[in-house]
Amino acid sequence: MVVELVSVGTELLLGNIVNTNTQYLAEQCALLGLSMYHQVVVGDNQERLAEVVRTALGRSDVVILTGGLGPTEDDLTKEVCAEVMGMPLKEDAHTRKRMEAYFKNGIFKVIPDNNWKQALVPEGAIVLDNDNGTAPGLILEKDGKTAILLPGPPSELYPLFKGQVFPYLKKKQPEILRSQMVKICGVGESQVEAELLDLIDKQTNPTIAPYAKTGEVHLRVTARAKTEEEAKHLVKPVVKEIKRRFGDSVYSVREEETLEMAVVKLLQKYELTVTTAESCTGGLLAGRLVNVPGASEVFREGFITYANKAKRKYLDVSKSTLKKYGAVSPETAREMAIGGAFAADSDVCVAVTGIAGPEGGTEEKPVGLVYIATYIKDKATVKKFQFKGNREKVREMAVVRALDLLRRSILENCR
Ligand code: ATP
Ligand code: MG
Repeated sequence: MVVELVSVGTELLLGNIVNTNTQYLAEQCALLGLSMYHQVVVGDNQERLAEVVRTALGRSDVVILTGGLGPTEDDLTKEVCAEVMGMPLKEDAHTRKRMEAYFKNGIFKVIPDNNWKQALVPEGAIVLDNDNGTAPGLILEKDGKTAILLPGPPSELYPLFKGQVFPYLKKKQPEILRSQMVKICGVGESQVEAELLDLIDKQTNPTIAPYAKTGEVHLRVTARAKTEEEAKHLVKPVVKEIKRRFGDSVYSVREEETLEMAVVKLLQKYELTVTTAESCTGGLLAGRLVNVPGASEVFREGFITYANKAKRKYLDVSKSTLKKYGAVSPETAREMAIGGAFAADSDVCVAVTGIAGPEGGTEEKPVGLVYIATYIKDKATVKKFQFKGNREKVREMAVVRALDLLRRSILENCR
């Protein structure tokens, strides 16, 4: 079943308000397993609205319209839909009664005349009582097509949708969509796609959709089925196959789990403490770890050693190393990791040193050059990276890769 969203309101076209209704409804429709190919925004103009409604009903089974149900002149949604669908307006006694009760309890004692137009309902429409406003929601069914009209204010729309429209649509579309996320770090987006091409091409149910994040690729595996159980059954073998292909590069199969959560979980599992020794990332790495509730169990202190002097003072990086190889070098990264672990008396240390730019790059050491070292079980490992992008991007990528290396070094040494 194909659903289409139409947001009505000139203020949306002018950018005066953010179209949060569409975001909400799109998410809800996805949960219901409905297909959606179009979302339209149209101003409070009779002709253009009629054209949009006609087009939407022509190509979609269900059209959900929001806004323009109010009492004023520019509120046209109901009138236009009634006209297009050939369902003339008639006063609805039930709605009139509810409006009277609403006004009696509210601050306005007298009902403004123009409000009564809200009691007019297209003949044969299903009326959805609105407990938070005067305009009821409406469902218009004609010739196998459905228009659902909902008020624009989110405080009225959300409860109406959740309480009445969601169950209505669920009955119409008994299939559901369920998806699982596979989160990959340390493999580029194009490489992920290349390695999955056969799966992506072949599969229609479930489908595999890749999303590129900074330094990560997330794959959403989505199945359509009659029941939760059946959907899980479809998703499971595909997730298993992806995990087989990417091995340790998969850090989570849970939507809500971030990279830093996965790292903290591993540290907790193997009862390890960690410290950070950061130069160019200036505390971002420690910040990511502390994002995770319960990080205090595994992380006690970190070092921000931006200047050479600080690297010597806190991490005991030797003067000759700094002089001979420079602050951005594998040798310095290595000594930072070892020195950090000793200074904090932790089991593991991850160190980052690099050139974030925009200045400071040379031919030999260009902007974006970053060394990341891990120290665990008396073993230091250093990796070289050349990141692209501005200062912010380079630092962000360095943090992601540092978390990833930390994760991999724990797996390699403790499993
Ligand atoms: P009213 O009875 O208040 O006139 P209505 O159903 O006619 O309601 P509109 O007049 O189109 O709806 O919009 C009323 C208010 O609802 C807007 O000023 C805005 O605050 C909110 N609103 C409308 N459409 C949206 C939208 N797409 N996303 C978020 N908020 C919206
Ligand atoms: Mg209005």
